[in-house]
Order: sequence, then structure tokens, then C-alpha cells
Amino acid sequence: MARSISILGATGSIGRSTLDLIERDSDAFDVLALTARSDVAGLAAAARRTRARHAVIGDATLYPALKEALAGSGTEAAAGDDAICDVAAMGADWTMAAIVGTAGLKPVMAALKQGRTVALANKESLVLAGILMTRAAQEAGATLLPVDSEHNAVFQCFPHDDPSRVRRIILTASGGPFRTTSRDEMARVTPAQAVKHPNWSMGAKISVDSATLMNKGLELIEAHHLFPVGNEKLSVLVHPQSVVHSLVEYIDGSMLAQLGPADMRTPIAHTLAWPQRMKTPVEPLDLAQVGRLDFAEPDFDRFPALALALAAMKAGGARPGVLNAANEEAVAAFLAGRIGFLDIALIVDKVLSVYDPGSPETIDEALMLDAETRRVAALALERQAA
Ligand code: NAD
Ligand code: MG
Repeated sequence: MARSISILGATGSIGRSTLDLIERDSDAFDVLALTARSDVAGLAAAARRTRARHAVIGDATLYPALKEALAGSGTEAAAGDDAICDVAAMGADWTMAAIVGTAGLKPVMAALKQGRTVALANKESLVLAGILMTRAAQEAGATLLPVDSEHNAVFQCFPHDDPSRVRRIILTASGGPFRTTSRDEMARVTPAQAVKHPNWSMGAKISVDSATLMNKGLELIEAHHLFPVGNEKLSVLVHPQSVVHSLVEYIDGSMLAQLGPADMRTPIAHTLAWPQRMKTPVEPLDLAQVGRLDFAEPDFDRFPALALALAAMKAGGARPGVLNAANEEAVAAFLAGRIGFLDIALIVDKVLSVYDPGSPETIDEALMLDAETRRVAALALERQAA
């Protein structure tokens, strides 16, 4: 029987990789819903190809355009943020959560509450409201599978029956495009240089995060929620080849790692087939061709965003959410050419130093914290840009 699937954020980098896999085996999957923010053409084309039952565009002003693009297709069009949550709550057997940023939080919560399987790429929602999300998953009996390559690697190596066997979780980091760049040079890098990742092709926001190493910081917080072994057991190692996607060290000294090509279709396929395995069109990894694997300690001085995220993780409460929302605003300002690359971590630091709310107890409180942080960040950005 075909499995029903939905993709939240279907037009993005992860969404398109997911579509690529399911379209190769279209008999196995029945597409319930696809969503996007503003790419009407991309959404409508994907809905037609997959014969999706629902397609939702977040920007409500684009409803007429979507309706027209889907005319005669049999796909039902809808628009607005609430409509995205509505289709997320339709109970697909498997949902890909691939909206970028905390905009993905409400939809992913709606999906988790259905008690099915949610493949999570949207790390920002977990950083803002990880406790609430993992609790909701547990209460609904939902299965939360990590798509982020590092966490997917850890998931594959982790002793789920007895986490006390773990001495350390080591997240690998490519180091991004500025791994060897001096601070002086970093001050002058352009958005185009920052989004040009050496190993991975990804959306703009996560690409900038990879360049500042904030991405690895967000991933530490993500790991803290997904693999609760204690913060002191979480660490980061720079590994420029992006072949070892992460490692789990056991108390007996053994280290288990997952290796693979730098292609997100492998971790996505892992979550799509789990607990089975499925074939993918991914080019096999040729280790002889790779030749060598390098590892180094991360440089917290050249990449202060990583230090800020580590401190936020250790402090807990509202700190990760403030860090994340400030970072989203700062990255958007950098991509818009309003601030420099090094200003991103400066702004995040500034916001963390002036705004210190209490821990959010509900999703609404988390979203209020997120919105308030953005207001504080906007003020800091105005000053920085002036
Ligand atoms: P992207 O920018 O390419 O795509 C984002 C998707 O979210 C698009 O479909 C867009 O329409 C939708 N979207 C954006 N804002 C929205 C809003 N306000 N409301 C509704 N929909 C909205 O991003 P991506 O690279 O695919 O990343 C998606 C998520 O996966 C991010 O959280 C990212 O950190 C995570 N992730 C991505 C990769 C990767 O290789 N791209 C790897 C690991 C984790
Ligand atoms: Mg990652």
C-alpha cells in the first residue's frame, strides 16, 4: 500500500531532494500535501508531477496565482500560514519538516501531534522549542527522525536502548567556506562568497550559518534535544572533507561513525525508509578517491558564533531561542547587504546581552519570545547599519 506523505517547505533545497526521491518510486508514495512560502510556479509544478492532493502557499496574496497554476490538476489550492498548519495536521504517514527558520515551528507541531513519523530538517524550531517539541512527540507517540546529516549519522550509530554507553557524541563540521580565512578577510566577504559552500548545496540561510559556524552551534543544541546524554558529552570536530558525518564514542573506547557522500538524499532516504533501507541515485562514496580524512579542533576565536551557541546551550531556558531569532534576523540583514559578515555574531551577542526573558512554557510563549527577539534585533541592526 502507498504511504501518504507531506512535504512542508517543498520548494527548498531539502524539499526538492525529498521530491526527487519520492518521484523515482511514485507507486510507493501518495502525496497528501506540499507547501511553500512564495514560489507558486515551483509548488504548482511539483504538485502536478506528484498528483498532490493539497498545495498550500504561505503568502496569502498569492492564492489566485496558485489557484490558476493548478487549474484542472485535481490538486486543491490553499493559502496562508494557518492553511499550512491545517495540511500538516492531516495526518500523513510521513511528513518532511523542511521549512527554514522558526516559521516552521507551528506546522511541525501540528504534524507531531498526529502521532505519525516526522522527518525533521527544520533545526531552528527545535532550537527555539526543543523541550516542547520532543514532549509533544512523546505524548502523541510520534516518531521524530533527524534529517540533518550530522544528527542522522548519530541516530544511525546511537545505542537507543542504552544511552549510558555513550562517552561522547562528536558532530563534524566542514568549517565552511572561510575555514582558513583570517578575521580581516572575513570582514570584507560578500553574501555571494558566504553562500558558496565548499561541499554542500543548500538554501541561503543555512549556507551563511555554515560560514559563521552558527550552524554547528545550532546543531549542538539540536543534538542536546535529540540525544539527551548531557551537554558535557557533546563536541564538535572540524572535518573539511564532509565524509564522516558524525561519530558516537562508546565508554569502551569504540567510535562508530556514519560515512557517505555529501548529498542530503542519503539522510533523507534513511528517514523515508526507516527502519528499512531504500536505494538512492546518490553517487557512491569512493574512499580511495577521497584519499585522506582530516580532523581539527574548531577555532572559537575566529568563529565566535559557535562560542555563543555553546554558551546558550549550556545556559538553556530562553537563551537558545533568543540566539536563534537574533541570528535569523542578522543573517537576513547580511544577505540583504545591510551589515557585514562579522556583524552577524556581533548582533547576536548584542541581543543576548540586552534581552534575557524567562524560559517559554508553551508554544505561544516561544513564538512571543521569537517575535520580541526580532524587535530587539531590528533595533540593534539599525544601529549597526547606520
Ligand atoms: P531553503 O531556503 O532552500 O527552503 C526553505 C523552504 O521553506 C522553501 O520551500 C520555502 O518556501 C519555505 N519557507 C520559507 N519561509 C517560510 C515561511 N515563512 N512560511 C512557510 N514556508 C516557508 O532551505 P533549505 O536549505 O531547504 O533548509 C530547510 C531547513 O532544513 C532549514 O531549517 C535548514 O537548516 C535545514 N537543513 C538543510 C540542509 C540542506 O542541505 N539544505 C541540511 C540540513 C538541515
Ligand atoms: Mg548539518
